[in-house]
Amino acid sequence: MQIIRHPDEMTAWAKEQAKAGRRIGLVPTMGFFHEGHISLMRRAGQLADQVTVSLFVNPIQFGPQEDLAAYPRNFERDCAMADTAGVTALFAPDAAEMYPAGCSTTVAVGAELTGQLCGASRPSHFAGVATVVCKLFSIVRPDLAVFGEKDFQQLAVIRRMTADLNLGVEIVAHPIVREVDGLAMSSRNTYLAPQQREAALSLSRALALARKRATEGEHSAERLTTVLQDFIHSFPETAVDYISFVHQDSLQHVAEIDAQTVLALAVKIDGKVRLIDNGKVL
Ligand code: AMP
Repeated sequence: MQIIRHPDEMTAWAKEQAKAGRRIGLVPTMGFFHEGHISLMRRAGQLADQVTVSLFVNPIQFGPQEDLAAYPRNFERDCAMADTAGVTALFAPDAAEMYPAGCSTTVAVGAELTGQLCGASRPSHFAGVATVVCKLFSIVRPDLAVFGEKDFQQLAVIRRMTADLNLGVEIVAHPIVREVDGLAMSSRNTYLAPQQREAALSLSRALALARKRATEGEHSAERLTTVLQDFIHSFPETAVDYISFVHQDSLQHVAEIDAQTVLALAVKIDGKVRLIDNGKVL
């Protein structure tokens, strides 16, 4: 596996691959890999000839009070894991290379996709995500890019940006990978102390509860939200950021749930660790 630090070197490598007729699959990440990341890399390997993984903790997608400095990092371990997963190139630029002095362009996807859910409590987050992914697409020039459904709003934002800007990259969605007890894998799970780890299960269990109630015939988003709020708050460490039933593509709130509805959850544990999860309930 080749480790590439500089954007120009990355583009030169990508051009060589294209010349040789090889399709590139990109997996954008912030590192500290777990099985969720690895399954995205393997999926990219099934769909493309060369897998490039970007490892970049993107400063502009973190708010001022967020965990940029504390975000978990382990470069050596990540390299070993990516290599084993069949990655051909790992692109790990410095922030100064990605955002040199004078850099002043950002990509902002419209508020109908970015103003609610995570965008409500993280107002600059999706502009940061769209900007870095747009830059990664320009640098790596992938034929396809794989994103996890774990970050369901991010996926909708990237799809919109890719279509609106005619970026010509196929966006592939990959299902959420979970721990055996149901917790969605996340680099941020490493922040959780044992008691908090138990409280973190409130998200996947709330999804299961919503599925049960929905299958029994409760389709009112408002009533289901009340049930889920009570359930999540029965774990004393939790504070709900949002519980939203939205249309899978438009991300607009729905009053009655159906097969196109996604339940999206964000919960803070002990006021510190913010976890998200989502899924269909019907
Ligand atoms: P991150 O490093 O957290 O920014 O995530 C990089 C990519 O991995 C994003 O497309 C995420 O949606 C995806 N991802 C993170 N956790 C999971 C998971 N548990 N299952 C599937 N994909 C995931």
